[in-house]
Amino acid sequence: MAYNQILEDDTGSEHIIEIKDLCKSFDGTKVLKNITFYIRNNEFITLLGPSGCGKSTTLRIIAGFETADSGIVNFEGKDLKSVPANKRNINTVFQRYALFPHLNVFDNVAFGLKIKKVNKAEIKQRVNKALATVGLADYGERYIDQLSGGQMQRVAIARAIVNRPRILLLDEPLGALDLKMRKEMQIELKEMQRELGITFVYVTHDQEEALTMSDTIIVMKDGVIQQIGTPIDVYNEPKNAYVADFIGESNIVAGTMKKDKEVVLSSGITFECVDPMFPEFTEGIANLVDVVIRPEDFYVAEEKEGRINGTVESLVFKGVHYEMIVKSDDGIEWLVQNVDPSAVGSRVGLYVDPDDIQIMRRSELSPDFGSFGIKHPEARDNENREDVVSDNVVEEADNKPEDKDGEPEVETGVND
Ligand code: ADP
Ligand code: MG
Repeated sequence: MAYNQILEDDTGSEHIIEIKDLCKSFDGTKVLKNITFYIRNNEFITLLGPSGCGKSTTLRIIAGFETADSGIVNFEGKDLKSVPANKRNINTVFQRYALFPHLNVFDNVAFGLKIKKVNKAEIKQRVNKALATVGLADYGERYIDQLSGGQMQRVAIARAIVNRPRILLLDEPLGALDLKMRKEMQIELKEMQRELGITFVYVTHDQEEALTMSDTIIVMKDGVIQQIGTPIDVYNEPKNAYVADFIGESNIVAGTMKKDKEVVLSSGITFECVDPMFPEFTEGIANLVDVVIRPEDFYVAEEKEGRINGTVESLVFKGVHYEMIVKSDDGIEWLVQNVDPSAVGSRVGLYVDPDDIQIMRRSELSPDFGSFGIKHPEARDNENREDVVSDNVVEEADNKPEDKDGEPEVETGVND
């Protein structure tokens, strides 16, 4: 298949969209750098990354609201370059719903069909079906200002799906909702996508949202794709320290490998792991790697029973488990989750199963990421040890997204 350097298509499934080498600059700043990926028919694919990394720009190019400087967007094998937005079989749902306040719910959803002069009986049938799909079967007569935020977002989705698009683009559609509503809508959106049997391209900065809903996640940073894979892939096998840190909480520390299946942390502790050395590594010398250990993968034991010995620095109850920071004797602060609490100030031993230790190539992304863990040895030599535990740079899931789409997007839902 065309772009298997990024994602091998071993399923032989149809690619509804193929994007190749998309580049875009604004005012001389490159915001998309050779973006290349494909979208399988009927999948739920998510562009995930922090604010400003180019997610919306990518989506807007697919929608036809923005033009790429170079690169190709193929839709069902056809170059979309000369196809205007309203002739693409693609609809977009934005965070701001742009509903018509003077129209009731039914007429908001019917608006695009009326413009297209669809006959009344068909409009009625299609609008009612769309409203039922989003769980608003009895809301046709309501006015927009009588709706909650969640209901307004459902109307916006109904207005898009009533056009029966082949692809639905959703740009942070749940960003304005409160947490509880967002969680409910995540599950519903996924169900809707299955029921409708159409392709969803979803944009979010919220890693948990991406993990919950997606078949495929594309992790972006500064206009560059970092990894493409299933939620399980990107969580369990992050390609680099950036992805590991962005997807869930991680301990990322420097290490070295001299041989297969054995990694030595910078502090000298040796761990058995399941990874062989990377092909470019030389046996017998200390090849630099990043080591990722998820907080939930630690076992907490008595001091000396684990591989890492340390002191519990903090303890927070998180509902199902406790979250602790354990400072090991070499100065590393480990984020640890356990169902049983260990008292602050107590001494513990930590151990980890070999297959829960992820080894990654060191990259320029490595040293500054990770809320916990330390920099690589050579970086440490040059710097004051005090500041090596960096603050978490990743936005929290609860933060309201910073919306970059400055212009008023009057998404009328008329494109088909
Ligand atoms: P994201 O959706 O991931 O937050 P965007 O794709 O909206 O990111 O933006 C990527 C970068 O491009 C940001 O730095 C943003 O400020 C810039 N940008 C986006 N749209 C425009 C525009 N119309 N004019 C100038 N800069 C833009
Ligand atoms: Mg955006």
